Amino acid sequence: MVQVQQPPQHSSQQGHKKNSPLLLQAGVFVVIVVLTLVVFNTWQIWNTHQRNLQGAENNAENLARALAQHADDTFILIDNNLLDLIERIETEGLGPQQIPRLQKVMRSQIANFPPLHGSFIYDDQGNPFLTSTGIPLNQANNAERDYFKYHFTHNDNTTYIGKVIRSRTTGDLIIPISRRLNHPDASFAGVVLATLYVDYFSQFYDKFALDNGASLNLLLADGTILYRRPFSTVSIGKNISQSILFREILPHSAFGNATFNSLYDSVERIYGYSRVGRYPLVITAGLSKKDILADWRNDASLFALGGGTLLVILVTLGLLLIRQINHSVQTEAELVLTRDQLTQLNHTLEEQALLDGLTGLANRRQFDITLKNEITRAARNARHMALLMLDIDYFKQYNDIYGHVAGDLCLQQIGRMLKGLASRPGDLSTRYGGEELAIILPDTELKGAITFAERVLENIRQLNITHDGSPFGVITVSIGVCARIPPPYQDTPFNLVELADHALYEAKRSGKNKICSA
Ligand code: GH3
Ligand code: MG
Ligand code: MG
Repeated sequence: MVQVQQPPQHSSQQGHKKNSPLLLQAGVFVVIVVLTLVVFNTWQIWNTHQRNLQGAENNAENLARALAQHADDTFILIDNNLLDLIERIETEGLGPQQIPRLQKVMRSQIANFPPLHGSFIYDDQGNPFLTSTGIPLNQANNAERDYFKYHFTHNDNTTYIGKVIRSRTTGDLIIPISRRLNHPDASFAGVVLATLYVDYFSQFYDKFALDNGASLNLLLADGTILYRRPFSTVSIGKNISQSILFREILPHSAFGNATFNSLYDSVERIYGYSRVGRYPLVITAGLSKKDILADWRNDASLFALGGGTLLVILVTLGLLLIRQINHSVQTEAELVLTRDQLTQLNHTLEEQALLDGLTGLANRRQFDITLKNEITRAARNARHMALLMLDIDYFKQYNDIYGHVAGDLCLQQIGRMLKGLASRPGDLSTRYGGEELAIILPDTELKGAITFAERVLENIRQLNITHDGSPFGVITVSIGVCARIPPPYQDTPFNLVELADHALYEAKRSGKNKICSA
């Protein structure tokens, strides 16, 4: 029976799995790749978000500062006109000769700067004394206008910019810009007024390509709206002094940017703001955060979708890779196991092919191969080699008396003894067939072979296996010995066997339990 020891499969394979560095490396690799992708994607999306906001902050601030510069330039131009008129009036007076000249100057001021709606000179009662249009203004007393009241009570050299009003003469929305007129004794003489079309800012502010949610504001420093894009008549004159900009930001900084919800329409915007250098004015340019981030949202969604898809693909591929490696590791373990089993099986088969099952001695096959090889070698080296043929005496009777099983045991005992005896390298004890045994002794001359045979004979006797059917009372053997230097390329194994067999026959014939040589 071939007995192959099977190692416990599961524990072996699991052991391989657990300890497989490749599997661990693949797992770590997949995790690193996935984490890198997630971190990179998130960083990229966040980075774009921040850059969008930062870009918008810069844009809003730049826009606010540019609009402030524009407002400053506009108002200084008008202010210069007023100063020019005041200088003329205060040096030349308002006599009949001066009036046509003054009116001409006023007309040319309007003509040179079309955004100007009109130019007016009021006396100390608020009655129009002179206008750029030249139309008589019978009923137009302006003593109740804010600018008039301001100059009446403020004897200073400042320009007053008022809230938007509707022109009593044309019905247009206009911004009043005024200065005080003094008598030579510095007492109040009236007001010089220029009015500016609100539409001027409307046209200018509308030129900017901005998203719908954007807003541009020209405000008085007290928070009153002079103009707001998108335009609405409701917005004009509205006061937003309670907004975070006027309460907390502008007191500390003349320009900059800030993000907050509009007090006007509650939209969250990134605002650029700037005071207008020489005048009590403030500009704000607000870009809606929603608008700013709209493109980013689309890009981020695409990016996230692409990244997510890539992630799914990577994870799937990673899992497949891990599964494949796992599979390979298992297969490898199984292959190693199978190889071990096959090696063991091979070994067993080899043994079976060359060994005798009962005695454990070499079998006839091995005998034939070895004998042939040893003869060839001895012939080549011109060395002796010996062959002993043994046959148990009266073995038939032994079987008859003690049974076949006892016969087998007897053969096994003799086999064990022979194995121990023929211990020189190259010596080979074999079971030639039945109860006939043969011993090959390479490099041994006849004398040595006979001495060896005597030892065998003696040892078998000393096994002292009772045999009542034998005249010797114990198991004995007869041995035929021969030793020769095989002639090169001529002798065959069978000759040597034949010689030994002859000698054995002789031993039997001449009384058994003895050695004969040939
Ligand atoms: P001799 O002394 O002349 O050798 O007489 P013998 O009875 O031994 O005669 P022979 O050598 O012809 O005997 C062969 C017998 O050996 C036949 C068989 O009963 C016995 N025998 C051969 N092989 C085996 C075996 O494997 N087991 C057992 N138990 N007996 C075997
Ligand atoms: Mg025999
Ligand atoms: Mg016999």
